[in-house]
Amino acid sequence: MSYQSLNPATGKVLKSFAEISDADFEKKIATASACYEVWRKKSYAERAVIVAKAAAIMKEKVDEFAKPMTLEMGKRISEARGEVEFSSSILAYYAKNAEKFLAPVKLHPQVGEAHMESSPIGVIFGVEPWNFPYYQLARVAGPHLMAGNVLMVKHASCVPQCAIAFEKLWIDAGAPAGLYTNLLISHEQSDRIIDDPRIKGVALTGSVAAGRSLAARAGKNLKVSSMELGGSDAFIVLEDADLEHTVKWAVWGRMYNAGQTCCAAKRFIVVEELADKFLEKFSAALQALKPGDPMDEKTTLGPLSTESALVDLLKQVDGAVAKGAKVLMGGKRYDRPGSFMEPTILTDVKKDNPAFRDEFFGPVAMFFRVKDEDAAIALANDSDFGLGGSVFTKDIARGKRVASRVETGMMFINNISWSDAELPFGGIKDSGYGRELGNMGIQEFVNKKLVRTAHLEAPV
Ligand code: NAP
Repeated sequence: MSYQSLNPATGKVLKSFAEISDADFEKKIATASACYEVWRKKSYAERAVIVAKAAAIMKEKVDEFAKPMTLEMGKRISEARGEVEFSSSILAYYAKNAEKFLAPVKLHPQVGEAHMESSPIGVIFGVEPWNFPYYQLARVAGPHLMAGNVLMVKHASCVPQCAIAFEKLWIDAGAPAGLYTNLLISHEQSDRIIDDPRIKGVALTGSVAAGRSLAARAGKNLKVSSMELGGSDAFIVLEDADLEHTVKWAVWGRMYNAGQTCCAAKRFIVVEELADKFLEKFSAALQALKPGDPMDEKTTLGPLSTESALVDLLKQVDGAVAKGAKVLMGGKRYDRPGSFMEPTILTDVKKDNPAFRDEFFGPVAMFFRVKDEDAAIALANDSDFGLGGSVFTKDIARGKRVASRVETGMMFINNISWSDAELPFGGIKDSGYGRELGNMGIQEFVNKKLVRTAHLEAPV
Protein backbone atom coordinates (compact mmCIF):
# COMPACT_ATOMS: atom_id res chain seq x y z
CA MET A 1 0.00 0.00 0.00
CA SER A 2 1.18 3.54 -0.65
CA TYR A 3 -0.11 7.03 -0.02
CA GLN A 4 -1.45 8.51 -3.22
CA SER A 5 -2.80 11.96 -3.90
CA LEU A 6 -5.17 11.66 -6.87
CA ASN A 7 -7.69 14.20 -8.11
CA PRO A 8 -11.08 12.40 -8.14
CA ALA A 9 -12.56 15.11 -10.39
CA THR A 10 -10.13 14.25 -13.19
CA GLY A 11 -8.60 10.88 -12.30
CA LYS A 12 -5.08 12.38 -12.49
CA VAL A 13 -2.41 11.26 -10.03
CA LEU A 14 -0.96 14.35 -8.33
CA LYS A 15 1.75 12.81 -6.16
CA SER A 16 2.67 9.52 -4.51
CA PHE A 17 4.40 8.97 -1.20
CA ALA A 18 6.18 5.84 0.03
CA GLU A 19 5.50 4.44 3.46
CA ILE A 20 8.23 5.17 5.97
CA SER A 21 10.88 2.55 6.74
CA ASP A 22 10.86 0.70 10.05
CA ALA A 23 14.03 2.55 11.08
CA ASP A 24 12.35 5.95 10.50
CA PHE A 25 9.24 4.70 12.22
CA GLU A 26 11.25 3.81 15.33
CA LYS A 27 13.03 7.18 15.29
CA LYS A 28 9.72 9.04 15.15
CA ILE A 29 8.28 7.10 18.08
CA ALA A 30 11.45 7.77 20.11
CA THR A 31 11.25 11.51 19.29
CA ALA A 32 7.56 11.71 20.25
CA SER A 33 8.21 9.84 23.47
CA ALA A 34 11.10 12.18 24.40
CA CYS A 35 8.95 15.19 23.51
CA TYR A 36 6.25 14.00 25.93
CA GLU A 37 8.68 14.16 28.85
CA VAL A 38 9.20 17.87 28.15
CA TRP A 39 5.70 18.80 26.98
CA ARG A 40 3.90 17.25 29.94
CA LYS A 41 5.76 19.66 32.27
CA LYS A 42 4.78 22.80 30.35
CA SER A 43 2.09 25.03 31.80
CA TYR A 44 -1.24 25.42 30.03
CA ALA A 45 -0.21 28.96 29.09
CA GLU A 46 2.97 27.67 27.44
CA ARG A 47 1.07 25.00 25.52
CA ALA A 48 -1.56 27.53 24.50
CA VAL A 49 1.06 29.71 22.80
CA ILE A 50 1.79 26.91 20.29
CA VAL A 51 -1.81 25.71 19.82
CA ALA A 52 -3.16 29.26 19.41
CA LYS A 53 -0.38 30.01 16.93
CA ALA A 54 -1.38 26.94 14.87
CA ALA A 55 -4.98 28.20 14.93
CA ALA A 56 -3.87 31.65 13.76
CA ILE A 57 -1.78 30.23 10.89
CA MET A 58 -4.73 28.19 9.62
CA LYS A 59 -6.95 31.26 9.78
CA GLU A 60 -4.42 33.36 7.87
CA LYS A 61 -3.85 30.75 5.18
CA VAL A 62 -7.32 29.39 4.50
CA ASP A 63 -6.80 28.97 0.76
CA GLU A 64 -3.40 27.38 1.14
CA PHE A 65 -4.92 24.66 3.35
CA ALA A 66 -8.20 24.36 1.44
CA LYS A 67 -6.81 23.74 -2.05
CA PRO A 68 -5.04 20.41 -1.43
CA MET A 69 -8.24 19.14 0.17
CA THR A 70 -10.30 19.95 -2.91
CA LEU A 71 -7.61 18.53 -5.17
CA GLU A 72 -7.06 15.22 -3.41
CA MET A 73 -10.52 14.29 -2.10
CA GLY A 74 -12.85 16.46 -4.17
CA LYS A 75 -14.46 18.60 -1.46
CA ARG A 76 -16.05 21.67 -3.03
CA ILE A 77 -13.79 24.66 -2.46
CA SER A 78 -16.33 26.67 -0.42
CA GLU A 79 -16.83 23.68 1.90
CA ALA A 80 -13.05 23.20 2.08
CA ARG A 81 -12.54 26.82 3.15
CA GLY A 82 -15.25 26.44 5.78
CA GLU A 83 -13.54 23.32 7.12
CA VAL A 84 -10.18 25.11 7.46
CA GLU A 85 -11.81 27.98 9.35
CA PHE A 86 -13.66 25.58 11.62
CA SER A 87 -10.48 23.58 12.31
CA SER A 88 -8.73 26.78 13.29
CA SER A 89 -11.56 27.67 15.69
CA ILE A 90 -11.37 24.23 17.35
CA LEU A 91 -7.66 24.71 18.04
CA ALA A 92 -8.30 28.23 19.39
CA TYR A 93 -11.15 26.94 21.58
CA TYR A 94 -8.92 24.40 23.34
CA ALA A 95 -6.02 26.86 23.64
CA LYS A 96 -8.42 29.11 25.54
CA ASN A 97 -10.40 26.60 27.61
CA ALA A 98 -8.18 23.59 28.36
CA GLU A 99 -6.95 24.85 31.72
CA LYS A 100 -10.51 25.47 32.90
CA PHE A 101 -11.70 22.05 31.68
CA LEU A 102 -8.84 20.23 33.41
CA ALA A 103 -8.76 22.26 36.62
CA PRO A 104 -8.79 20.23 39.86
CA VAL A 105 -12.28 19.31 41.06
CA LYS A 106 -12.96 19.45 44.80
CA LEU A 107 -14.78 16.46 46.33
CA HIS A 108 -16.60 16.29 49.64
CA PRO A 109 -15.79 13.10 51.58
CA GLN A 110 -17.22 12.61 55.08
CA VAL A 111 -13.75 12.90 56.58
CA GLY A 112 -10.91 15.13 55.45
CA GLU A 113 -10.62 16.71 52.05
CA ALA A 114 -10.17 15.38 48.54
CA HIS A 115 -9.87 16.47 44.97
CA MET A 116 -9.51 14.99 41.50
CA GLU A 117 -6.68 16.23 39.36
CA SER A 118 -6.12 15.68 35.65
CA SER A 119 -2.78 14.84 34.11
CA PRO A 120 -1.66 13.73 30.64
CA ILE A 121 -0.97 10.06 29.96
CA GLY A 122 1.60 10.07 27.15
CA VAL A 123 1.84 9.56 23.41
CA ILE A 124 -1.56 9.07 21.77
CA PHE A 125 -1.91 7.33 18.41
CA GLY A 126 -4.66 8.73 16.16
CA VAL A 127 -6.04 7.15 12.98
CA GLU A 128 -8.15 9.51 10.90
CA PRO A 129 -10.36 9.43 7.79
CA TRP A 130 -10.17 11.40 4.56
CA ASN A 131 -13.67 12.91 4.58
CA PHE A 132 -12.68 15.87 6.77
CA PRO A 133 -8.92 15.99 6.23
CA TYR A 134 -8.22 18.80 8.74
CA TYR A 135 -11.29 18.97 10.97
CA GLN A 136 -10.74 15.37 12.13
CA LEU A 137 -7.10 16.19 12.93
CA ALA A 138 -8.02 19.41 14.79
CA ARG A 139 -10.54 17.45 16.88
CA VAL A 140 -7.73 15.32 18.30
CA ALA A 141 -4.84 17.80 18.19
CA GLY A 142 -6.59 20.69 20.00
CA PRO A 143 -7.68 18.81 23.13
CA HIS A 144 -4.98 16.18 23.46
CA LEU A 145 -2.00 18.50 22.93
CA MET A 146 -3.48 21.07 25.33
CA ALA A 147 -3.94 18.28 27.90
CA GLY A 148 -0.18 17.69 27.75
CA ASN A 149 -0.23 14.57 25.59
CA VAL A 150 1.72 14.13 22.37
CA LEU A 151 0.19 12.92 19.09
CA MET A 152 1.22 10.54 16.33
CA VAL A 153 -1.33 10.30 13.52
CA LYS A 154 -1.91 7.91 10.66
CA HIS A 155 -4.11 9.74 8.16
CA ALA A 156 -6.06 8.06 5.33
CA SER A 157 -3.93 6.95 2.39
CA CYS A 158 -5.77 9.19 -0.13
CA VAL A 159 -5.04 12.54 1.60
CA PRO A 160 -1.27 12.58 2.14
CA GLN A 161 -0.83 16.23 1.12
CA CYS A 162 -3.32 17.38 3.75
CA ALA A 163 -1.68 15.10 6.32
CA ILE A 164 1.74 16.58 5.57
CA ALA A 165 0.38 20.16 5.57
CA PHE A 166 -1.09 19.63 9.04
CA GLU A 167 2.20 18.30 10.40
CA LYS A 168 4.03 21.31 8.92
CA LEU A 169 1.49 23.59 10.62
CA TRP A 170 2.86 22.50 14.01
CA ILE A 171 6.45 23.05 12.98
CA ASP A 172 5.50 26.54 11.72
CA ALA A 173 3.70 27.20 15.02
CA GLY A 174 6.95 26.56 16.90
CA ALA A 175 6.10 23.12 18.31
CA PRO A 176 8.98 21.05 19.70
CA ALA A 177 10.10 18.11 17.54
CA GLY A 178 7.78 15.15 18.05
CA LEU A 179 4.78 17.06 19.41
CA TYR A 180 2.68 16.22 16.35
CA THR A 181 3.91 13.52 13.98
CA ASN A 182 2.30 12.47 10.72
CA LEU A 183 2.90 8.80 9.98
CA LEU A 184 2.77 7.45 6.44
CA ILE A 185 2.47 3.86 7.65
CA SER A 186 0.81 0.57 6.72
CA HIS A 187 -1.95 -1.16 8.68
CA GLU A 188 0.64 -3.63 9.91
CA GLN A 189 2.80 -0.80 11.28
CA SER A 190 -0.35 0.67 12.81
CA ASP A 191 -0.87 -2.59 14.70
CA ARG A 192 2.72 -2.50 15.88
CA ILE A 193 2.51 1.04 17.20
CA ILE A 194 -0.57 0.11 19.24
CA ASP A 195 1.46 -2.72 20.79
CA ASP A 196 4.36 -0.37 21.59
CA PRO A 197 4.54 0.36 25.33
CA ARG A 198 5.41 4.02 24.65
CA ILE A 199 1.94 4.54 23.14
CA LYS A 200 -0.71 5.07 25.83
CA GLY A 201 -3.98 5.58 23.94
CA VAL A 202 -5.66 5.06 20.56
CA ALA A 203 -8.16 7.44 18.93
CA LEU A 204 -9.82 6.29 15.71
CA THR A 205 -12.32 7.96 13.44
CA GLY A 206 -13.29 5.62 10.64
CA SER A 207 -15.39 2.68 9.57
CA VAL A 208 -16.85 0.00 11.81
CA ALA A 209 -14.41 -2.55 10.34
CA ALA A 210 -11.42 -0.37 11.29
CA GLY A 211 -13.01 0.20 14.71
CA ARG A 212 -13.26 -3.52 15.40
CA SER A 213 -9.66 -4.05 14.40
CA LEU A 214 -8.12 -1.11 16.30
CA ALA A 215 -10.31 -1.39 19.40
CA ALA A 216 -9.43 -5.10 19.66
CA ARG A 217 -5.73 -4.33 19.38
CA ALA A 218 -5.97 -1.53 21.95
CA GLY A 219 -8.00 -3.81 24.25
CA LYS A 220 -5.45 -6.59 24.01
CA ASN A 221 -2.87 -4.07 25.18
CA LEU A 222 -5.20 -2.64 27.85
CA LYS A 223 -4.95 0.80 26.30
CA VAL A 224 -7.67 3.39 26.52
CA SER A 225 -9.35 4.13 23.19
CA SER A 226 -12.03 6.28 21.62
CA MET A 227 -13.92 5.13 18.54
CA GLU A 228 -15.79 7.55 16.26
CA LEU A 229 -17.29 5.23 13.68
CA GLY A 230 -19.98 5.19 11.01
CA GLY A 231 -23.62 6.12 11.15
CA SER A 232 -26.96 5.84 9.37
CA ASP A 233 -28.73 8.80 10.88
CA ALA A 234 -32.49 9.10 10.74
CA PHE A 235 -34.02 12.33 9.45
CA ILE A 236 -37.50 12.25 10.96
CA VAL A 237 -40.20 14.47 9.47
CA LEU A 238 -43.40 14.78 11.52
CA GLU A 239 -46.69 15.88 9.95
CA ASP A 240 -46.46 19.37 11.49
CA ALA A 241 -42.99 20.16 10.07
CA ASP A 242 -42.31 23.35 8.10
CA LEU A 243 -41.86 21.71 4.71
CA GLU A 244 -39.71 24.37 2.97
CA HIS A 245 -37.33 24.59 5.93
CA THR A 246 -37.19 20.80 6.27
CA VAL A 247 -36.43 20.12 2.62
CA LYS A 248 -33.52 22.60 2.65
CA TRP A 249 -31.99 20.74 5.60
CA ALA A 250 -32.72 17.38 3.96
CA VAL A 251 -30.73 18.37 0.88
CA TRP A 252 -27.87 19.83 2.89
CA GLY A 253 -27.92 16.96 5.40
CA ARG A 254 -27.61 14.35 2.66
CA MET A 255 -25.46 16.17 0.12
CA TYR A 256 -22.92 18.19 2.11
CA ASN A 257 -19.43 16.86 1.32
CA ALA A 258 -21.01 14.84 -1.53
CA GLY A 259 -22.82 12.79 1.10
CA GLN A 260 -19.61 11.55 2.72
CA THR A 261 -20.24 12.52 6.32
CA CYS A 262 -20.52 10.09 9.22
CA CYS A 263 -23.54 11.89 10.67
CA ALA A 264 -25.19 12.82 7.37
CA ALA A 265 -28.94 12.26 7.11
CA LYS A 266 -29.08 8.82 5.54
CA ARG A 267 -32.55 7.45 6.36
CA PHE A 268 -35.43 9.81 5.62
CA ILE A 269 -38.38 8.76 7.75
CA VAL A 270 -41.47 10.79 6.91
CA VAL A 271 -44.93 10.61 8.45
CA GLU A 272 -47.54 9.58 5.84
CA GLU A 273 -49.42 12.89 5.80
CA LEU A 274 -46.38 14.79 4.50
CA ALA A 275 -44.59 11.98 2.66
CA ASP A 276 -45.64 12.72 -0.96
CA LYS A 277 -45.09 16.44 -0.70
CA PHE A 278 -41.70 15.94 0.97
CA LEU A 279 -40.57 13.43 -1.64
CA GLU A 280 -41.62 15.65 -4.53
CA LYS A 281 -39.71 18.69 -3.23
CA PHE A 282 -36.71 16.70 -2.01
CA SER A 283 -36.22 14.89 -5.34
CA ALA A 284 -36.66 18.13 -7.32
CA ALA A 285 -33.99 19.83 -5.18
CA LEU A 286 -31.57 16.91 -5.63
CA GLN A 287 -32.24 16.88 -9.37
CA ALA A 288 -31.20 20.53 -9.55
CA LEU A 289 -27.64 19.80 -8.32
CA LYS A 290 -25.02 19.90 -11.07
CA PRO A 291 -21.74 18.00 -11.06
CA GLY A 292 -18.64 19.99 -11.89
CA ASP A 293 -15.11 20.99 -10.96
CA PRO A 294 -15.05 21.23 -7.16
CA MET A 295 -12.50 24.06 -7.50
CA ASP A 296 -15.21 26.14 -9.23
CA GLU A 297 -17.29 28.15 -6.71
CA LYS A 298 -20.42 27.61 -8.81
CA THR A 299 -20.31 23.80 -8.71
CA THR A 300 -23.10 22.32 -6.60
CA LEU A 301 -22.05 18.65 -6.68
CA GLY A 302 -18.49 17.41 -6.28
CA PRO A 303 -17.04 13.96 -6.98
CA LEU A 304 -16.70 11.17 -4.44
CA SER A 305 -13.32 10.97 -2.74
CA THR A 306 -11.91 8.15 -4.87
CA GLU A 307 -12.91 5.96 -7.79
CA SER A 308 -13.07 2.93 -5.49
CA ALA A 309 -15.48 4.77 -3.16
CA LEU A 310 -17.74 5.36 -6.18
CA VAL A 311 -17.48 1.77 -7.46
CA ASP A 312 -18.27 0.39 -3.99
CA LEU A 313 -21.27 2.70 -3.57
CA LEU A 314 -22.69 1.78 -6.99
CA LYS A 315 -22.33 -1.90 -6.06
CA GLN A 316 -24.12 -1.22 -2.78
CA VAL A 317 -27.03 0.42 -4.65
CA ASP A 318 -27.20 -2.48 -7.14
CA GLY A 319 -27.17 -4.93 -4.22
CA ALA A 320 -30.05 -3.07 -2.55
CA VAL A 321 -32.05 -3.14 -5.81
CA ALA A 322 -31.36 -6.86 -6.32
CA LYS A 323 -33.01 -7.44 -2.93
CA GLY A 324 -36.14 -5.44 -3.73
CA ALA A 325 -35.34 -1.74 -3.29
CA LYS A 326 -36.56 0.69 -5.97
CA VAL A 327 -34.55 3.55 -7.44
CA LEU A 328 -36.74 6.65 -7.44
CA MET A 329 -33.98 8.74 -8.99
CA GLY A 330 -30.28 8.47 -9.81
CA GLY A 331 -28.44 5.25 -9.06
CA LYS A 332 -25.66 5.65 -11.66
CA ARG A 333 -22.38 7.41 -12.23
CA TYR A 334 -22.43 10.52 -14.40
CA ASP A 335 -21.28 10.08 -17.96
CA ARG A 336 -18.28 12.39 -17.57
CA PRO A 337 -14.68 12.09 -16.37
CA GLY A 338 -14.10 11.82 -12.64
CA SER A 339 -15.78 9.87 -9.86
CA PHE A 340 -19.19 11.57 -9.84
CA MET A 341 -22.40 9.88 -8.74
CA GLU A 342 -25.97 10.96 -9.39
CA PRO A 343 -27.97 11.99 -6.33
CA THR A 344 -30.00 8.88 -5.58
CA ILE A 345 -33.17 8.06 -3.68
CA LEU A 346 -33.99 4.45 -2.78
CA THR A 347 -37.48 3.47 -1.68
CA ASP A 348 -39.00 0.13 -0.64
CA VAL A 349 -35.95 -0.89 1.37
CA LYS A 350 -37.53 -3.61 3.48
CA LYS A 351 -36.18 -5.03 6.73
CA ASP A 352 -34.97 -8.24 5.08
CA ASN A 353 -32.88 -6.23 2.60
CA PRO A 354 -29.25 -6.09 3.86
CA ALA A 355 -29.20 -2.45 2.68
CA PHE A 356 -31.66 -1.65 5.47
CA ARG A 357 -28.80 -1.90 7.97
CA ASP A 358 -26.07 -0.43 5.71
CA GLU A 359 -24.36 2.92 5.77
CA PHE A 360 -24.44 4.57 2.31
CA PHE A 361 -21.38 6.82 2.30
CA GLY A 362 -22.25 9.13 -0.58
CA PRO A 363 -25.24 10.83 -2.25
CA VAL A 364 -27.75 8.02 -1.62
CA ALA A 365 -30.87 8.62 0.48
CA MET A 366 -33.12 5.85 1.75
CA PHE A 367 -36.74 6.98 1.99
CA PHE A 368 -39.30 5.45 4.38
CA ARG A 369 -42.95 6.33 4.87
CA VAL A 370 -44.42 5.69 8.34
CA LYS A 371 -47.87 6.09 9.87
CA ASP A 372 -47.02 8.25 12.89
CA GLU A 373 -44.46 9.52 15.38
CA ASP A 374 -44.16 6.21 17.27
CA ALA A 375 -43.53 4.31 14.05
CA ALA A 376 -40.90 6.88 13.05
CA ILE A 377 -39.04 6.43 16.35
CA ALA A 378 -39.25 2.63 16.15
CA LEU A 379 -37.79 2.67 12.64
CA ALA A 380 -35.07 5.18 13.62
CA ASN A 381 -34.04 2.88 16.47
CA ASP A 382 -34.03 -0.23 14.27
CA SER A 383 -30.39 0.33 13.34
CA ASP A 384 -27.02 -1.07 14.34
CA PHE A 385 -25.73 2.50 14.38
CA GLY A 386 -26.35 5.20 16.97
CA LEU A 387 -24.42 8.28 15.92
CA GLY A 388 -26.89 11.17 15.39
CA GLY A 389 -30.29 12.00 14.02
CA SER A 390 -32.74 14.82 13.53
CA VAL A 391 -36.43 15.55 13.91
CA PHE A 392 -38.46 18.24 12.17
CA THR A 393 -41.63 19.59 13.79
CA LYS A 394 -43.08 23.01 14.62
CA ASP A 395 -43.73 21.80 18.18
CA ILE A 396 -40.36 22.06 19.98
CA ALA A 397 -41.59 20.21 23.10
CA ARG A 398 -42.65 17.34 20.85
CA GLY A 399 -39.29 17.48 19.07
CA LYS A 400 -37.50 17.17 22.42
CA ARG A 401 -39.67 14.19 23.42
CA VAL A 402 -38.82 12.45 20.16
CA ALA A 403 -35.12 13.33 20.52
CA SER A 404 -35.07 11.70 23.97
CA ARG A 405 -36.52 8.47 22.59
CA VAL A 406 -34.10 8.05 19.68
CA GLU A 407 -31.10 5.91 20.67
CA THR A 408 -28.12 7.91 19.44
CA GLY A 409 -25.31 10.07 20.79
CA MET A 410 -26.65 13.29 19.23
CA MET A 411 -30.05 14.64 18.14
CA PHE A 412 -30.91 17.85 16.33
CA ILE A 413 -34.31 19.53 16.27
CA ASN A 414 -35.24 21.46 13.10
CA ASN A 415 -31.60 21.56 11.98
CA ILE A 416 -28.59 19.35 11.48
CA SER A 417 -25.90 21.66 12.81
CA TRP A 418 -23.68 18.70 13.62
CA SER A 419 -20.65 20.21 15.09
CA ASP A 420 -19.47 23.12 17.19
CA ALA A 421 -16.21 23.31 19.12
CA GLU A 422 -18.25 23.56 22.37
CA LEU A 423 -20.53 20.56 21.73
CA PRO A 424 -19.54 16.94 22.37
CA PHE A 425 -19.63 14.71 19.30
CA GLY A 426 -19.93 10.91 19.23
CA GLY A 427 -22.21 7.91 19.19
CA ILE A 428 -23.31 4.63 20.71
CA LYS A 429 -23.84 1.07 19.38
CA ASP A 430 -21.74 0.38 16.25
CA SER A 431 -21.07 4.11 15.95
CA GLY A 432 -18.46 3.66 18.66
CA TYR A 433 -17.69 5.14 22.05
CA GLY A 434 -16.07 8.21 23.56
CA ARG A 435 -16.66 11.83 22.66
CA GLU A 436 -14.69 14.44 20.80
CA LEU A 437 -15.05 18.24 21.13
CA GLY A 438 -16.40 20.29 24.02
CA ASN A 439 -15.28 19.72 27.59
CA MET A 440 -15.86 15.94 27.23
CA GLY A 441 -13.43 15.71 24.30
CA ILE A 442 -10.44 16.74 26.40
CA GLN A 443 -11.22 14.24 29.17
CA GLU A 444 -10.73 11.07 27.05
CA PHE A 445 -6.96 10.68 27.42
CA VAL A 446 -6.16 12.11 30.83
CA ASN A 447 -5.51 10.46 34.14
CA LYS A 448 -8.16 11.42 36.67
CA LYS A 449 -6.29 11.13 39.92
CA LEU A 450 -7.89 11.16 43.35
CA VAL A 451 -5.90 12.94 46.07
CA ARG A 452 -7.27 12.66 49.61
CA THR A 453 -5.99 14.23 52.83
CA ALA A 454 -7.48 12.88 56.07
CA HIS A 455 -6.09 12.52 59.56
CA LEU A 456 -7.41 9.03 60.12
CA GLU A 457 -6.00 6.34 62.37
CA ALA A 458 -5.02 3.20 60.44
CA PRO A 459 -7.47 0.36 61.18
CA VAL A 460 -5.95 -2.37 63.35
P1 NAP B 1 -11.74 3.54 7.00
O1 NAP B 1 -11.49 2.71 5.82
O2 NAP B 1 -11.99 2.89 8.29
O3 NAP B 1 -10.47 4.53 7.12
C1 NAP B 1 -10.33 5.44 8.17
C2 NAP B 1 -8.89 5.44 8.63
O4 NAP B 1 -8.61 4.17 9.22
C3 NAP B 1 -7.87 5.61 7.50
O5 NAP B 1 -6.77 6.32 7.97
C4 NAP B 1 -7.49 4.17 7.20
O6 NAP B 1 -6.24 4.07 6.60
C5 NAP B 1 -7.46 3.59 8.57
N1 NAP B 1 -7.63 2.15 8.68
C6 NAP B 1 -8.62 1.38 8.18
N2 NAP B 1 -8.46 0.09 8.54
C7 NAP B 1 -7.33 0.06 9.29
C8 NAP B 1 -6.63 -0.99 9.94
N3 NAP B 1 -7.05 -2.24 9.93
N4 NAP B 1 -5.50 -0.66 10.62
C9 NAP B 1 -5.06 0.61 10.66
N5 NAP B 1 -5.67 1.63 10.05
C10 NAP B 1 -6.80 1.37 9.39
O7 NAP B 1 -12.91 4.56 6.81
P2 NAP B 1 -13.38 5.23 5.49
O8 NAP B 1 -14.36 4.36 4.84
O9 NAP B 1 -12.25 5.71 4.68
O10 NAP B 1 -14.05 6.52 6.16
C11 NAP B 1 -15.37 6.67 6.31
C12 NAP B 1 -15.91 6.02 7.57
O11 NAP B 1 -15.54 6.81 8.67
C13 NAP B 1 -17.42 6.00 7.53
O12 NAP B 1 -17.94 4.84 8.09
C14 NAP B 1 -17.77 7.22 8.37
O13 NAP B 1 -19.07 7.17 8.87
C15 NAP B 1 -16.70 7.17 9.42
N6 NAP B 1 -16.53 8.49 10.05
C16 NAP B 1 -16.92 8.65 11.35
C17 NAP B 1 -16.82 9.90 11.96
C18 NAP B 1 -17.24 10.11 13.39
O14 NAP B 1 -16.85 11.11 13.98
N7 NAP B 1 -18.03 9.23 13.98
C19 NAP B 1 -16.32 10.98 11.24
C20 NAP B 1 -15.94 10.79 9.92
C21 NAP B 1 -16.05 9.53 9.34
P3 NAP B 1 -6.06 3.70 5.04
O15 NAP B 1 -6.63 4.82 4.26
O16 NAP B 1 -4.59 3.59 4.90
O17 NAP B 1 -6.77 2.40 4.84
